[in-house]
Amino acid sequence: MADLVVERPQGLYCPPGDFYIDPWRPVPRAVITHAHADHARAGHGHVLATAVSAGLLRSRLGAALPLQGLAYGEAVTHHGVRISLHPAGHVLGSAQVRLEHAGQVWVASGDYFLSAHDESNATCAPFEPVRCHCFITESTFGLPVYRWAPQVEVFGQIDAWWRANAAAGRPSLLMAYSLGKAQRLLAGVDASIGPIVVHGAVAPLNEAYRAAGVPLPPTWTLGELPEARQLAGALVVAPPAVHGSAWARKLGDFSDAFASGWMQLRGARRRQGVDRGFVLSDHADWPGLQRAIGATGAERVIVTHGEEAVMVRWLREQGLDAGAFRTEFGQEDAAPAPRGAAPVAAAGEADDPKAGG
Ligand SMILES: [Zn+2]
Ligand SMILES: [Zn+2]
Repeated sequence: MADLVVERPQGLYCPPGDFYIDPWRPVPRAVITHAHADHARAGHGHVLATAVSAGLLRSRLGAALPLQGLAYGEAVTHHGVRISLHPAGHVLGSAQVRLEHAGQVWVASGDYFLSAHDESNATCAPFEPVRCHCFITESTFGLPVYRWAPQVEVFGQIDAWWRANAAAGRPSLLMAYSLGKAQRLLAGVDASIGPIVVHGAVAPLNEAYRAAGVPLPPTWTLGELPEARQLAGALVVAPPAVHGSAWARKLGDFSDAFASGWMQLRGARRRQGVDRGFVLSDHADWPGLQRAIGATGAERVIVTHGEEAVMVRWLREQGLDAGAFRTEFGQEDAAPAPRGAAPVAAAGEADDPKAGG
């Protein structure tokens, strides 16, 4: 039985369907799982994606994007391959790609969120397991050290930090990835504590979420904040790139924090030079990856996009046929992405995330 997805220099390729999934080079036909920059690149001849992600994709890649939008679960057939998209719970419109051809079913996960707790990302449709013969899974946090606390605990920590700063008369600068994480934070915090200010990179993405029907509390950019609303008591949500910037200095005396799965690593916060680190990820943790893989019933699993070696070894120990694809997906979870640092931390010897990613 021929494989339904193979590696090519342009990206993951479906030979019978003659299309790519999240290709990193321009191709004639692409299926795009979600709007993060490392998955949704410009220059493709035709793009298939969820209809609900259309606003985000167009705001990133331009209004002229040759996009065909599908509802979750809706199918199209191309060269005999039946293609459908299923919720991944990662960001607005994120999808797993189900491919069916000649009695074989493969699912390419894209990025997804699932944890040991029965909870989902409130800003998008929850991860839905799809039965398949072969599951191509992400593994960004595919190490046993990554175990997310219940979200309610994390949001409680963020609210307490914001409340204490507001009482002390200083803004709370919370740095997080602009697409997805920022909106999840906005939806999760207690907006009664004070006004919420967002960076100019976050504002248009909030609008795309609101336009798709995701409720978010009112937000202002710095210039728009009405005089009656005190910046001193504000939560300021901005991308990690503002760290140490002139833009951040405009906030005066502030407390700062990162919200990222990488904050689980001991020392990550200190090395980033921020006051606080909140462990909040839009990716599955180690138990979430295991749950997701088990729920597919797949006998074959191909790992991409993260800690492949540890996950492949674990899968083989479970008796599964496991391998890895090399991809050019990034680790968009946040700026302090410590590629190569995590195995060290997992071994308990050190905790030295290198910058970058
Ligand atoms: Zn992503
Ligand atoms: Zn990704």
